[in-house]
Amino acid sequence: MDIINILPDSVANQIAAGEVVDRPAGAVKELLENAMDAGATHIDLIVKDAGRTLIQVIDNGSGMSDSDARLCFERHATSKIHRSDDLFAIHTMGFRGEALASIAAIAQVELRTRLHDSELGTTVQIEGSQIVDQQLTACQPGTSISVKNLFFNVPARRNFLKKDSVELSHIEEVFKRIVLVHYDIGFTFVSNGKTLYDLRPGTMLQRIAGIYGNHYKERFYEVQEETDLVKISGFVGKPEYSRRTRGEQYLFVNGRYIKHPALSAAVEKAYDEMLPERSYPSYYIALQVDPSRIDVNIHPTKTEVKFVDDHALFAILRSAVKKSLGVFTLANQLSFDTPDEFNIGPAPTGYTPPAPSVSYNPNYNPFKASASQSHMDFKQPDIPVHADIPDYTEGADFQDEADVQEPQQPQSSACLQLQGRFIVTALSSGLAIIDQQRAHERVIYERLTKAEGQVPSSQTLLFPVSCQFTVADAELFGELLPDLRGYGFEVEPAGQATFVVTATPSDLKESDLQPLFDQMLAEYKGAAMQKFSNRSHSLCASLARQMAVKSGKVLSQEEMQQLVADLFACPMADTSPSGKKIITIVNPEDILK
Ligand code: ADP
Ligand code: MG
Repeated sequence: MDIINILPDSVANQIAAGEVVDRPAGAVKELLENAMDAGATHIDLIVKDAGRTLIQVIDNGSGMSDSDARLCFERHATSKIHRSDDLFAIHTMGFRGEALASIAAIAQVELRTRLHDSELGTTVQIEGSQIVDQQLTACQPGTSISVKNLFFNVPARRNFLKKDSVELSHIEEVFKRIVLVHYDIGFTFVSNGKTLYDLRPGTMLQRIAGIYGNHYKERFYEVQEETDLVKISGFVGKPEYSRRTRGEQYLFVNGRYIKHPALSAAVEKAYDEMLPERSYPSYYIALQVDPSRIDVNIHPTKTEVKFVDDHALFAILRSAVKKSLGVFTLANQLSFDTPDEFNIGPAPTGYTPPAPSVSYNPNYNPFKASASQSHMDFKQPDIPVHADIPDYTEGADFQDEADVQEPQQPQSSACLQLQGRFIVTALSSGLAIIDQQRAHERVIYERLTKAEGQVPSSQTLLFPVSCQFTVADAELFGELLPDLRGYGFEVEPAGQATFVVTATPSDLKESDLQPLFDQMLAEYKGAAMQKFSNRSHSLCASLARQMAVKSGKVLSQEEMQQLVADLFACPMADTSPSGKKIITIVNPEDILK
């Protein structure tokens, strides 16, 4: 007895539908992508009851001919691939010709479509894969697809749907993943008659503001980088706006939202110690890569992607973000006008780029007049624009490019102290207001971390100072001795719970030492320290906090100039080691207003 049956198309389609459309948001995604593939410049999304009763997408794209209007619901009907070779050069969103067939298998669908040069359009009604009606109609050029009563014939799926609020938030997420990167297209989104979004075409930043509100604009730094391998553009959140959850993190590749843990890690790594532990930056980053360098075996409706050049991408992305966070903001304020892009070819197979690292200006000597000459020299700032990109491409000479960086000097080096707390000085881009304590923290922090591995600078004390601790603290202090020596302290144990300090990294009064170490130990033990990811950051940040001049300290003109110069020599001049904002720029436009 023969036991094999061929499944009827309607059943096969229903099964396929389960893969493509598992909830209303899945159908929304497919319909929006089709509209974009059709070249639409404006797309309306209308839903009722979170897409349960209606999902409608109206576009002004190419439209379809009468026969295509029927064919498009056939399985494997697609205008996007002609030969299997095409699979390797996919630029469009969908290409398997499954979405409309799947949706039509599990809903009542009405399609209205008209080619731009046709006088009349077509309406097709299809229900559970059966065409029930087709007619010529007068309609706008472009396409409108209404999907009614999703899963009407698949009760199991229908019952599986969550509350409307949950389904609607899935749709919103799908919508955001699309509109954030297709900011050149206008979108509206209406739910139960209420307009949730009305987005004009514009820039990515305008789109972000259109979604989250105008106040969002100032929360980001721009990221721009172009190499042979990848073009990166987007926005990364300022550290002070980081969040406790990983919510607003969007990575796109070739106009498509993706999940890529390694690339996300690259972005987060760029923030280094700028973020407290368990807080995450927001970002919207779009990558453009040659489609042939993306692994095509990855399921097209899935968000996972594999790149041929994973490692190089990681390094470039991390460096680009870093540049935006640290150097770029500063560069911006100082009006660097040299080109700062670099080019990098694909890595040779098997090549693993070395871990990125940051270079820095090892000079440090706050308020020390003798050192001011070198510090005030803005001609050779040691800013790691390209320092962390491995040089493995023939002909690419990053060092040269880095040397080209010649920031302008502040317009006048004169500084003014405000309320014993802020230093005000003029930059070419505007008026800089610098928090003196945070600035000094950054400078000291850089210097302490720099000293690791190098011969630290220290100043011998006139009289050795002895510090005493409880037995438990003394043990901990003993463990930290190598670190402290690395920072320029000369300390020796001297009997029971006592240590003798003979030199310090500079600018510390003898009487400051005991409280400095007590506080450092307390912080090292306490919760305050847990927010930093490693021991060295913890110690340096703690020491920097205490060694820094405090708010309220009156500074001389010379001291302020020195501090400003030292600050601008730091790679992350904009943010204090504990992630607080150091510099605010009031630009001339704002002053005019
Ligand atoms: P795919 O997008 O993978 O090709 P779909 O089932 O989503 O498969 O769509 C089938 C075909 O229908 C598309 O290839 C396209 O030619 C046509 N089509 C679908 N939606 C639209 C639209 N909004 N405008 C114009 N053509 C469309
Ligand atoms: Mg499609």
